[in-house]
Amino acid sequence: MMVLTRKMIEIRTILQKVGQTGALTLPSIVVIGSQSSGKSSVLEAIVGHEFLPKGSNMVTRRPIELTLVNTPDSNVEYGEFPTLNLGKITDFSHVQRTLTDLNLAVPEKDCVSDDPIRLTIYSKNVPDLSLIDLPGYIQISALDQPEELKAKIFQLCDKYIQAPNVILAVSAADVDLANSTALRASRRLDPRGERTIGVITKMDLVDPDRGSNILKDKNYPLRLGYVGVVCKAPSSGGIFSRHVNVLSAITKNENAYFGQHPQFAGDSGVTVGTYSLRRKLMEVLETTMAQSLQGTSDAIHQELEEASYEFKVQYNDRPLTAETYLAESLDSFKHSFKEFTEIFGRPQVRQLLKQELDQRVLDILAQRYWNKPFADLKRARIDDHPLSELAKVELDELYWHRKLDGSSSALTKLGIGRLATNVVANSLSTQMDQLIEASTFRNHPFARKAIQDSSNTILNERFYATSDQVENCIKPYKFEIELDDREWAHSRENAQRLLRDELKACELGYKNLKDQIGGKKLSNAMSFVDKIRSGRAPEMAEGSEALGFSQAMLEKGREGIFLRDRAEILKMRMLALKSKGCATKDSKYSCPEIFMDVVAEKLTSTAVLFLNVELLSEFYYNFPRELDLRLGRHLSHDQIEAFAREDPKIRKHVDLQQRKQLLELALQKMDSLMALEKSKKAQIDEP
Ligand code: GDP
Repeated sequence: MMVLTRKMIEIRTILQKVGQTGALTLPSIVVIGSQSSGKSSVLEAIVGHEFLPKGSNMVTRRPIELTLVNTPDSNVEYGEFPTLNLGKITDFSHVQRTLTDLNLAVPEKDCVSDDPIRLTIYSKNVPDLSLIDLPGYIQISALDQPEELKAKIFQLCDKYIQAPNVILAVSAADVDLANSTALRASRRLDPRGERTIGVITKMDLVDPDRGSNILKDKNYPLRLGYVGVVCKAPSSGGIFSRHVNVLSAITKNENAYFGQHPQFAGDSGVTVGTYSLRRKLMEVLETTMAQSLQGTSDAIHQELEEASYEFKVQYNDRPLTAETYLAESLDSFKHSFKEFTEIFGRPQVRQLLKQELDQRVLDILAQRYWNKPFADLKRARIDDHPLSELAKVELDELYWHRKLDGSSSALTKLGIGRLATNVVANSLSTQMDQLIEASTFRNHPFARKAIQDSSNTILNERFYATSDQVENCIKPYKFEIELDDREWAHSRENAQRLLRDELKACELGYKNLKDQIGGKKLSNAMSFVDKIRSGRAPEMAEGSEALGFSQAMLEKGREGIFLRDRAEILKMRMLALKSKGCATKDSKYSCPEIFMDVVAEKLTSTAVLFLNVELLSEFYYNFPRELDLRLGRHLSHDQIEAFAREDPKIRKHVDLQQRKQLLELALQKMDSLMALEKSKKAQIDEP
């Protein structure tokens, strides 16, 4: 058993994940040869399957890093492209097509690419080997194969046939060895022939004497020797049946051929047959691996030291995996959510809702009470009845009763259930967004979406039940509003405050308008609009451009008048609310601002009660659970990894830590392998 190669291949797989740097490359067998030397046939014979791209003009354009993994306990044979995520491919013609596609993906103008294709083949019929198939040397530059291609292939091959790689130099027996491009290339980089295995293909095409002489070659002596093969199955003319193991077909053929010529007999001193070649490859690779153990171990050590140093300097050795990062982020998010739940409760919901209703109250009042130009209202008497200042109509009891009832139902029938639920749900959503913004999740679109989905799911689920519930509970107010003195007094203050704030807003709006177009221009425009309205400029229809006032300026004038009037009305109403006339609840018809606040207060208090139970508590209970579902342990490792990588800083941290861990793992395997080798040696050395 070639344990070492197998283990080294394992280590190499780990190191590939680290991102291979030159120093960490483990030895492989690099296969070179000119086109048509039979290189592909040899490789396929070793693998036992036809899997390499074929066809006229199908030049291998990218190196294929081929890893063979022996799986003695399994009957399935399959290939895998570890960087492509295509899964296990049991159909070798599919492997072949994929390789063809990958080859064709290299743009014509680049000719060849040194970006390797990684292919691993698992089978009980393959030995543990790591081979690299390189583009075949081309002899003559055909029209469609420019001179440049020739040079590029040489460069590429030279890069791979460096030590400690073993060179498998393939030459055909029917071509003079002196003309073998493969041997000449190997000679340049391995001048003493120490790590080159010569493979002579097409032994069947020369006579046995010449064949055996080639294998004993003295001009190009190779320490690892030559192996003669006939890599051609007899019947199929080079194309092997997919169902027969290529190697056994070839071996049978070779046995027949070499068996009939004494030149190749066991005692002839030459090595022949693909089977022997395979054995040799295994042994040579195993020895080479053994020799590179110390070097590789040192290289891993050094890489590890660098990674550890960087980890210490940059991250103070703080461990971080995608999983811990997610868990920590989630914990801290939940923590901030908890804090939020403590500051956003009933009082806050109440305030939110009341503000909303205040706005509606203002709208209703403006629509129903403050709806005459101030000039008209001013002419009314001020003292005896404050409400008379709002309208010129005679104070008719029924009229004012209806007006107030109408206003009150405009508010109670607004759809308070939906409105209130909406206000709170929107606020919760916004607040969750703010929590995200303040958390590590802000850099993670995936988590951001998961959190938003969590909150939306709960809010949507609760929406209808809550709004129905609220609507039901405020129903009595649609029919009757009872009020006591305390409520009146409280609302009187509220109403005054509300009007004061509204006045401020009007005055600010007026000031902004003035700043925008200038005080003089504004007052000119306003007095012109006033004139039109009071009929003192009868020839001017309102809206026509006149006296140098543009349409836009007239619009500003109207806006100015509106704000001025509104401010005046508000001032007047504030005085009224302060006056004796509004002191008690009996004056509700003449003090609608106060009464409407009473209604708004009642609606708010009732709605809040149910919003709290139906929406807020439910949300607070379910949200962390929903988060766990979407961001918790059920996520796959890949999802978590992808999540963590969204943040470039975290990605760097995780990558470095992973690199360190992988190097540690590789080193650990390396150490145990070296210990094993040592003990093996000790056993052998023992007398
Ligand atoms: P590559 O271009 O170096 O990969 O060469 P191939 O493996 O495609 O072989 C080129 C041609 O030589 C094909 O037609 C093969 O069938 C043929 N061939 C390969 N090995 C042998 C052999 O040992 N004997 C004979 N007679 N033909 C061979």
